[in-house]
Formats: sequence, structure tokens, C-alpha cells
Amino acid sequence: MLRTLTDEEENFRTEVAGWLSANVPSDLRHTTFRPLPRDCMPWYRQLYQRGWIAPHWPREFGGMAATPVQEVILMEELARAGSPDIPGQGLNHIGPILIKCGTPQQQARHLPAILCGDAVWCQGYSEPGSGSDLASLRTRAVIDGNELVISGHKIWTTWGHHADWMFALVRTADGAARQHGITFVLIDLKSPGISRRPIRTIAGDDEFCEVFLDAVRVPMENVVGEIDRGWAVATALLSEERLRIGAPVLAQRALERLRRLVRASPPCPRNDEALAQAEMEAETLTASYLALAEAQHQGGAADSSYLKILATETVQSILDLLQQVAGEAASLWHAPSGDGLLDYSEMFLQSRRLTIYGGTNEIQRNLIAAKVIGLPPMAGAPARRKE
Ligand SMILES: Cc1cc2nc3c(=O)[nH]c(=O)nc-3n(C[C@H](O)[C@H](O)[C@H](O)COP(=O)(O)OP(=O)(O)OC[C@H]3O[C@@H](n4cnc5c(N)ncnc54)[C@H](O)[C@@H]3O)c2cc1C
Repeated sequence: MLRTLTDEEENFRTEVAGWLSANVPSDLRHTTFRPLPRDCMPWYRQLYQRGWIAPHWPREFGGMAATPVQEVILMEELARAGSPDIPGQGLNHIGPILIKCGTPQQQARHLPAILCGDAVWCQGYSEPGSGSDLASLRTRAVIDGNELVISGHKIWTTWGHHADWMFALVRTADGAARQHGITFVLIDLKSPGISRRPIRTIAGDDEFCEVFLDAVRVPMENVVGEIDRGWAVATALLSEERLRIGAPVLAQRALERLRRLVRASPPCPRNDEALAQAEMEAETLTASYLALAEAQHQGGAADSSYLKILATETVQSILDLLQQVAGEAASLWHAPSGDGLLDYSEMFLQSRRLTIYGGTNEIQRNLIAAKVIGLPPMAGAPARRKE
């Protein structure tokens, strides 16, 4: 991190680094894919027991109330120790939204289960034909007494086939403005009428799935916010999601891999140059993230579209530098070095998705054009897209 740390922050870093080096399970270190629940949830629970699973949550909800600098220290040390990717939809997406907009009952029921890893969550926003143009979604919910009866089809649902709960957008009314009539609801995935079909990505992992809902009954108490007025909740969540995608976690992980590869390679000025370039790009991202996270910490609004673009394109750029250093070995699916150092292809293929999920980078650029620069909408474009 570019800024000088206080003694307290340095002590925190030493404590985190020491604990992680002793505790990250050796078989999960530096994996290029997110391990399956049976492999990664024990590690998730260990982080919970240590008190570090939710640095950004307030203390009254079981979080750490960490400062943005402490958060970045944790991210950097987790990357250095090779800690694997863990499910984040509960911690980073629905958790903060329930803290802001959930009822006391929803908070009491769901937040502790997210923290301790008893409930894995997924996000049911996208549908076939409704990705960027999210307000066109067609999954429909009909009110029947004290329940919603939901039928429809969600797609690209990350970890949907491993999840216990899904937060979803459903259409409850048709209005003049398409954003009206959308309701934000929490769905127990054990409910009758739900089936799931995994989708394999180009990187070879089953990261996401399709979710089919056939007359699924959901109690009204699972609605977050008001019926028909879920769009405000949905977009608040997207803004939080972009800030979290904008955190330098993946960039630090890619940088750590590059550092290890350069250290293990014969001395070469071009490699040193590539590493210096990657270090600078990662620092730029960290500084931008800190500025936004600190603004948000103090109650200000943060332009998370810009951060989402910067973070995702920084990861791709560091991976390009990794490719340059790996040379010919970068073209192999599993390079035969034995230590996994040259296993580059999987990360490269996974990194293609970064500029798509959480709202594509093209859409983020549109949002900046409209909201920050004040340009008029393009002719023919829908009035509002995923924002
Ligand atoms: C790995 C991964 C995980 C995902 N996880 C989830 C999840 O957990 N839950 C969930 O709900 N969704 C998830 N998604 C879906 C994701 O949010 C959508 O893929 C994304 O919003 C784009 O929608 P689309 O795929 O329908 O593409 P489209 O909206 O059809 O867009 C296709 C292309 O056209 C461009 N485009 C569209 N409209 C415009 C415009 N107005 N101006 C300029 N360019 C435009 C887009 O940028 C894109 O390049 C995930 C996607 C991926 C890749």
C-alpha cells in the first residue's frame, strides 16, 4: 500500500500475516478456481471464528467495523497467503442490503447464518434476454393470500446450484415505467418447484447455473422493501456489488502469482519491468478503492461504476503481464511445472468474465456518460439500464 501505515495498522498486518501463514489449508493455497463448498466452507468458518469474515459489516451485526485500510490489509495478506476464493454473495451483496433495508426479523434470521457459513446465497437477477436491460425481466409473482407464487427462469446464477437461498427480482405488476412493479424477494431454494441446471464456463468450472421456478410459494415476510418497489433495493445492491467487485482482491491475487513466477524464474530485466508495471497498476487500483471506500465510510456517495471498470481491467492487464512472463508455457492448459506456478490459462479464461458480471463494463461506461458527464442517452437506447 502506498500510504504509510500507522503503528496500529502495521501491528494488524503482522497479526493477520502470522495467523494466515499458520492457518490457510495447504491444499487450498493459490488455487486458481473457487473450491467446492465441502472444501472451502471449513476455511470460511475458520475465518468467521477468527472474526475476519466480514470486515466491512458493523459490529452490532457481527462484523469487524474495519476501516478501509484494515480491509485492504486483509485483502493483501489473504492474497499473499494464497487464501482461496470463498462465496461472497451473502457477505458482500445481500448482507449489507439487509443491514440497510431488511426488517429486524429478516436481519435476525439471515445475517448470523451468512456470517457463520450456514447459508450460502446466490443472486437471481439475470434472465434469458434480461441482462443489461434488467428491468425487462419476466419472472412473475402473483400474490395469493400471505404468499407470493413465483414462476420463471433465472440464468447465470453464480453458485446457484450450491446455494441455500437466492435473493431475486420478480415482476408483481406491469406499469408505465418498467422499473415499477418489480419486487425484491428472498427465496429458500429448498422450496418445492425449484430446479437448477449447472452451466460450464470456458474456464472449465461450473461457476453458475440456471434456476427454474415453477409456482414456488414464498411468504410475504420474505419481501425486502415494498411490493412493486424493489427496484430501489435492487439498484442499491448493484452499487454495493460494484464497490465490492472494485476491491483489489483479484488484482492482488494475480499480482501475487506474478511475483511468485518472477521469483522462480531466472533473473531477467523484462520480467522485473513487467512486475514493476503490475505493482503500479495494483497500487493505483488500491488507492482508488481506498478513496471510494473512505468516502462511503464517511457517509458519502461513491461512483462505483468507475471502480468496477478499473478493478476488472487491472486484473486483465496484470494477467497479460503474467502471460508475457510465462512465455510459451502460458498457452498450455495445465503447465507441467509441478508447482502450479505456470498454470495461467485457467485464470486468463476466468478473467474474461470480470468485465461482464455485475453489469458489463460497456454499461458502466454508459452510466458514467449519463450520470457523471451528463451526456444525453443514445438514440434507441432504453431509458434506464442495469444501474
Ligand atoms: C461469470 C458470470 C457470473 C454471473 N453471475 C450472475 C449472478 O450471480 N446473478 C445474476 O443475476 N447474473 C449474473 N451474471 C449475469 C450478468 O449480470 C450478465 O451477463 C450481464 O449483466 C450482461 O447481460 P447479458 O449476458 O444478458 O448480455 P447483454 O445484456 O445481452 O449484452 C451483450 C453485449 O451487449 C452490450 N450491451 C448491451 N446493452 C448495451 C448498451 N445499452 N450500450 C452498450 N453496450 C451494450 C453488453 O455490454 C454486452 O457486451 C453473471 C455473468 C457472468 C459472466
